[in-house]
Amino acid sequence: MSNPSQVLEHVLNGLTHGSIKMVDLTQPLGEETPVIALPPEFAQSPGFTREVISRYDDKGPGWHWNTITLGEHTGTHFDTPSHWVTGKDQPHNTLDSIPVQNHIAPVCVIDTSKESADDEDFLLTPEFLEKWEQAHGRIPAGSWVLMRTDWSKRTDADAFLNLKEDGAHCPGPSVECIRFLIERDVAGFGTETVGTDAGQSHLFDPMFPCHHLIHGAGKYGLASLCNLDQLPPTGAILITAPMKIVGGSGSPVRVFAITSA
Ligand code: MN
Repeated sequence: MSNPSQVLEHVLNGLTHGSIKMVDLTQPLGEETPVIALPPEFAQSPGFTREVISRYDDKGPGWHWNTITLGEHTGTHFDTPSHWVTGKDQPHNTLDSIPVQNHIAPVCVIDTSKESADDEDFLLTPEFLEKWEQAHGRIPAGSWVLMRTDWSKRTDADAFLNLKEDGAHCPGPSVECIRFLIERDVAGFGTETVGTDAGQSHLFDPMFPCHHLIHGAGKYGLASLCNLDQLPPTGAILITAPMKIVGGSGSPVRVFAITSA
C-alpha cells in the first residue's frame, strides 16, 4: 500500500466492489431551492431561475440548453474568505485563487441531531467539541468540521428556513466554537442549514461569527449540506468542487465524501 499508484488502485477497486462508497452531500438545485432572507434594508440574493435558449426547436433543432440566474450563495454552496469583509485581504480568497489541493480534505462530523431536534436554536460549543474529541481524537489541522443537525430532512422550505417575527431559528456554531475551530486550524466549517451561522446569530458578538471569524482567518464555509447521517465521525475524505468563478465569493458546489462502506 506504500506505492501511491497502488493506493489509487485500491480506492478504485474499493469503489467498484463496494468496500468504499461515495456519499453525495449535495441538495438538488432548482426553482424550489430555499434562499436566505436578509433584513429588508439589505439587497436580497435571487433564487435559481432558468430560461430556455433552445430545446430541440427552431432556435436550436438538435440541442437543449438554458440560461440560469442565481445568487452565488444558493443551495448547497461554498463560501470563500472574500465573502466577508473580514476576509477581503486574505491571500487566495476567491474561487479562482484557492489552491486546488484545498478542495480535498479529511472530514470530522459532529452529530448534534438529538440536541438540534430538542432545541431549534441549539449552539455547538467548545465543550461539545472537546467531548467529541475525547471519543474520536483531536480535530486535525486542515480538516473540515461539519455540524450534523438533520436539518436537511426538513424538505418543506418554510420549515427549513424557519422564519419567525424575530428572524430565523436554526442551529449553528457559537462564537467560542468558531474560535476553537480556528485554533484547531480547520479548513472550514459546514452545516445543513441555509447558511453556516445560527438563525439568531445576528444577536451574537461578533454578528455571524462563522462568517466574521472563519473567513477573517482565511477559512471556508459550506451550507445546505445533506446526508451527513451517512458519514462516520472521522475517516472520510471530503471533495468540494465549486465553480471557478473569477473573483467569486462563493458558488453552488458539488460536494461528496469518500468513505469506507
Ligand atoms: Mn454563503
